[in-house]
Amino acid sequence: MNKFVKQYRCTLCNQTFSPPEIEYTCPKCGEKGILDIEYDYEAMKKVVNLAYFKDNHDYSMWRYQPMMTIDTTHIKKMLHIGWTPLYESNQLAKRLGLKSLWIKDEGLNPSASLKDRASGVAVLKAIEEKATIISCSSTGNAASSLAASAARMGLKTVIFVPKRAPIGKLTQLMIYGSNLICVDGDYKSAFNLSKEAIDHYGWYNRNAAINPHLVEGKKTVALEIAEQLDFKLTDWVAVSVGDGCTIAGVYKGFYDLLHLGLIPKIPKLLGVQSSGCSPFVKAARLNKPLEEAEENTIADSISVGIPRNPIKALRAVKDSKGAWIEVTDAHILRSMKMLGSLEGIFGEPAGVTALSGVEQALTDQIIKHDETVTVIMTGNGLKDPNNAQKAIDQPVILQPKLTSLISYLKEKGDIDHA
Ligand SMILES: *Cc1c(COP(=O)(O)O)cnc(C)c1O
Ligand SMILES: [Zn+2]
Repeated sequence: MNKFVKQYRCTLCNQTFSPPEIEYTCPKCGEKGILDIEYDYEAMKKVVNLAYFKDNHDYSMWRYQPMMTIDTTHIKKMLHIGWTPLYESNQLAKRLGLKSLWIKDEGLNPSASLKDRASGVAVLKAIEEKATIISCSSTGNAASSLAASAARMGLKTVIFVPKRAPIGKLTQLMIYGSNLICVDGDYKSAFNLSKEAIDHYGWYNRNAAINPHLVEGKKTVALEIAEQLDFKLTDWVAVSVGDGCTIAGVYKGFYDLLHLGLIPKIPKLLGVQSSGCSPFVKAARLNKPLEEAEENTIADSISVGIPRNPIKALRAVKDSKGAWIEVTDAHILRSMKMLGSLEGIFGEPAGVTALSGVEQALTDQIIKHDETVTVIMTGNGLKDPNNAQKAIDQPVILQPKLTSLISYLKEKGDIDHA
């Protein structure tokens, strides 16, 4: 355990605990008592400061080890996770009428999504706890990322996914050698079965929210964005939301930097969901607790009917003075094509949902045209080719003749025929 960890605090009853007392959630509140990890920032500041970042040549998320709960022992053997590119938009900002737009391409992680950040930490914690089998339920990306990092470190995995999980993600799981349990039901059913099985077998639990170390891994995306922008953050950071752990992690990263005195304030967080499954947006609009929603969107990674991290996610948006917004699946498909064709970045549906959210927020005047925005593109488009096909016209098959080519290109009209 990292020496800067001060204590754990329950997000429900506010009680604090010292680390050795606790494995996952608050002993008083049970599964809903999700914990925050609190650090001694005064002590951390003496190590983690501008000079630390400048002199650190580990360009991966592991450069942030002193800011996470993990120790250093096995880091060198891990996959290279993080330090993904943050691109300034070449064309998209102009198209949207935005002053400036940055895109963090998390599809370039080893298993091609942001989830690698949490899974890498989970695997290191499992090794610290001397576990040999690690388990989770997932819409797909937590699963494939866990299977990848565990394979690399010689741990076994038992992974529960709903049967709807896209083909790319299922294939990754099999290639990484996971014990895949494809559940005949939705994500809720996969989650419930995994919970029963983990209780029964005592496997190490990588389930979203319940394990407090995962958000500490996810927060590194925010730390990177800050470093890549030289600690001059954009007004907004947009994130797609399912369970709520990613946006909670983004908030936590900025919160740490604020308390280390490295940024003056936390950017406004835009939480984006699909209107096919938007329990957070509805709860925020009605100012009521979350209600179970149907899981009915092509954005499978955020098709989460019962989000597992509501308190942290709602707090992230509220305390950052951000906003919640929902977008349609049709809009998500348009954004997929737009991001690919204007910036060369191919995202899965949940990966580009945040971009749709930014466009919608501009229309709704939540984001102003003279503000600056970072979009976190959370997962690679090749994971879900079937949905991507809905965003495009099917390729035309041509006879191998120049005349057919010329008439085809004329009809298409994209290439000049001077
Ligand atoms: C998991 C995931 C999200 C959302 O993260 P939550 O923690 O479930 O809110 C968004 N996009 C992709 C690609 C994901 O895999
Ligand atoms: Zn509690």
